[in-house]
Amino acid sequence: MNLADISTVKSILSQPQKIVIIPHKNPDGDAMGACLGLYGFLKGMGQNARVVAPNDYPKFLKWMPGHDTVVNFEWDNGEAQRLLDEATVIFTLDFNDFSRTGQMASVLEGKEADFIMIDHHQQPSDYAKVTYSDVSMSSTCEMIYNFIDFLGQTDSITADIASNLYTGIMTDTGSFKYRSTSSKTHRVVADLIERGADNMEIHRQVFDTNSPSRLHLLGVALSNMVILPEYRTAYITLTQEELDANDFKKGDTEGFVNYGLTLEGIIFALIFIENKDEGIIKISLRSVGDFSVNEFARKHFNGGGHDNAAGGRSDLSMDETLQQFNEILKTYKSTLNP
Ligand code: 5GP
Ligand code: MN
Repeated sequence: MNLADISTVKSILSQPQKIVIIPHKNPDGDAMGACLGLYGFLKGMGQNARVVAPNDYPKFLKWMPGHDTVVNFEWDNGEAQRLLDEATVIFTLDFNDFSRTGQMASVLEGKEADFIMIDHHQQPSDYAKVTYSDVSMSSTCEMIYNFIDFLGQTDSITADIASNLYTGIMTDTGSFKYRSTSSKTHRVVADLIERGADNMEIHRQVFDTNSPSRLHLLGVALSNMVILPEYRTAYITLTQEELDANDFKKGDTEGFVNYGLTLEGIIFALIFIENKDEGIIKISLRSVGDFSVNEFARKHFNGGGHDNAAGGRSDLSMDETLQQFNEILKTYKSTLNP
């Protein structure tokens, strides 16, 4: 964020505002941590603020400080619409294009409020009065910490704010191991721990609260894994039937895609998950090294994200999607396995 942006934000926040904070659809730890961390900070300043999420988020995040104040656009549509209608300022966090909010996108298009985008994905759209976009950042939560720092207010980071921001940095860095994890990330995390984030407890809440059915589903996913050594690629499939048979709950498949990359020599991993309700196959893509899954998802599967972690979707059936994927893969042979 440049000096002009910082002074714009300072001037906006020097007045009482009606603020709505929005994560992307199917919010993850980083999106929720950023929204709830910023929510705590703005409330602490005396601002009127609410988080409005496009839809539900996983149970393993439903301990985060302030989570019980989140308005779900699907379930509490009237309240969500009212908050959006009255909003004078709208923060969009951990995404950079209205389309990432699903059903909410058409509502956001027409809004007069001042938009402030804070995000670390590639190719930001141009809708915000203030755009704080930095693809080198580990997480939007690290950027929220910076944002508070730019305003000279890190001393107002409470234990609740620290816990929310810690959660998003931890989940988006794969517990501090991805390439985007910098020495600065660790300094921020150290400060958050000093300010009251209970790192051991947060890790336990997010990773060690599995249900037996989730582990059974992981077993199914791993036995479905297809390994293509000639493409240094591994992919997993889960059909709606398999999800139903294992009592699937939102968030249960989080992290499954990463198992492909734990195989020696594999640099490209995917998971294809059928969603009969939405009539789509949701795809998660991961890579190590220079192969950009952002570009791959953008070009072939109506998605995007980061160089090493992206998402996308297909409107075809599972079989057709896999057939299409296998055809596309042939054109990447020399890139994936030179
Ligand atoms: P995940 O596979 O965990 O859902 O998402 C991986 C990364 O890609 C996240 O940063 C997420 O925000 C982004 N992402 C996931 N799905 C989509 C999508 O459909 N479009 C775009 N542009 N980004 C996505
Ligand atoms: Mn993120």
